[in-house]
Amino acid sequence: MATHFDALIIGTGQAGPALAARLDQEGMKVAVVERGKFGGTCVNNGCTPTKALVASAYAAHLARRAEEYGVKVGSIRIDPRKIKKRKDIIVSKSTNGVGKWMHGLKNGKVFRGHARFVSPEKISVGNQEIEAEKIFLDVGGRPLMPKMPGLDGVPFLTSESMMDVDFVPRHLVVVGGSYIGLEFAQMYRRFGAKVTVVEMMDRLIAREDPDVSEAIQQILEAEGVEFRLKAECLDAHRHGKDVAIGLDCKEKDKHARGSHLLLAVGRVPNTDDLGLDKAGVNVDKRGYIEVDEGLRTSNPRVWALGDCNGKGAFTHTAYNDYEIVADNLLHNAGRKYTDRVPVYALYTDPPLGRVGLSEAEIRKAGIQALVGKRPMTRVARAVEKGETQGFLKIHVEESSKRILGAALLGVGCDEAVHSLIDAVYSKRPYTEVQREVRIHPTVSELLPTTLESLKGL
Ligand SMILES: Cc1cc2nc3c(=O)[nH]c(=O)nc-3n(C[C@H](O)[C@H](O)[C@H](O)COP(=O)(O)OP(=O)(O)OC[C@H]3O[C@@H](n4cnc5c(N)ncnc54)[C@H](O)[C@@H]3O)c2cc1C
Repeated sequence: MATHFDALIIGTGQAGPALAARLDQEGMKVAVVERGKFGGTCVNNGCTPTKALVASAYAAHLARRAEEYGVKVGSIRIDPRKIKKRKDIIVSKSTNGVGKWMHGLKNGKVFRGHARFVSPEKISVGNQEIEAEKIFLDVGGRPLMPKMPGLDGVPFLTSESMMDVDFVPRHLVVVGGSYIGLEFAQMYRRFGAKVTVVEMMDRLIAREDPDVSEAIQQILEAEGVEFRLKAECLDAHRHGKDVAIGLDCKEKDKHARGSHLLLAVGRVPNTDDLGLDKAGVNVDKRGYIEVDEGLRTSNPRVWALGDCNGKGAFTHTAYNDYEIVADNLLHNAGRKYTDRVPVYALYTDPPLGRVGLSEAEIRKAGIQALVGKRPMTRVARAVEKGETQGFLKIHVEESSKRILGAALLGVGCDEAVHSLIDAVYSKRPYTEVQREVRIHPTVSELLPTTLESLKGL
């Protein structure tokens, strides 16, 4: 006999817990299923631990530069165990917090184990069956394992297993020069490892504009990270105690060799083991669950939220999915995921804050646009902090004067980008932003000034 609930939530990542709590508050009888650690990727293997590690790496970097600021410190030594411990403490507070939250639901019940559909309205967890009026999938994703010849014969790390590393590898080879790979590359270089990044494309983070890719490569190269781009045909093999990545199928001696290998080539949704075929829930070619604008799947009693629907790959998009689904269910709000503007950051140091359209996307859409650009060397705050790498770049639509997008690469730019996010959401012309008086000295105060230098894209 199946136990019956009003709502069933599978996964306690970034959308599930908040939704469970909101529905519980409304008096619904809620079941929550989690097979792994409470809090999912962001809390355990993603945002929280990586940003804690990035902070340790920044401390090491600044300590090495201390003399530049007139500060004398002794020799710099990295304590990888302590770095990991600090990260683990931060993570466990969040994980335990989510667990407590879910166990504390008034009308809720937590089930531990892997959930799988047995029919359109029923799932199994171990030997229990759960039936619900409404089912919400927040199952997230996991690292993609590339089809690389020889990979099964070598040891490798992923963004998940990196979380257990409590030593500094002698030489870390990172396959994948995009968001996740670059954060780890800079972090481990700052911890003292030799680092080589292998990337198939001819530039890093190819989703960004070429000037962004180039600036980030230069920043990391200046710290000693080595890049092997255009590595289109990869294979893996052992080389004594080392791991070697063949970079070119024709030139067999071309390879990157290191003591440890990290694979950071993308992510896949956790949808292959959910029994979705039994539930009439459709997925696309890449395994992402197909949803309408309100995030409802092809089974009208099932919704998909977070990374598993392929409509976002961030904590803030997963959380926004929760807000959309809850508001639509409880207040008939008619909210749609398509109403949101793309926003995200890359947490290299300095960070990249992004909003809206890139230059390439503007050109592709055939929009007449203007671009304003200012190097961070002309931002007083950056000069005073001694962190002048990067630039501010803002795009506006010529006819409407609306801000279309921005790429802010520089100290504090993960925060500074938010005032432009506000402007994009409120569809205000840039001329209004220019009239605002901003605090001196900040990076944000130079955004109106950057808009003074607009010229044709
Ligand atoms: C290294 C790294 C760094 C990142 N940094 C950032 C960042 O700085 N900022 C940002 O916004 N995003 C970042 N992300 C992305 C962010 O972590 C994800 O976008 C976010 O966690 C997605 O949340 P989610 O709710 O979709 O799924 P997840 O957080 O992946 O949670 C899914 C949960 O579902 C559970 N589950 C899956 N299948 C089942 C099943 N069948 N039965 C029961 N339980 C199941 C899993 O155990 C997991 O707990 C990062 C990701 C990585 C890997």
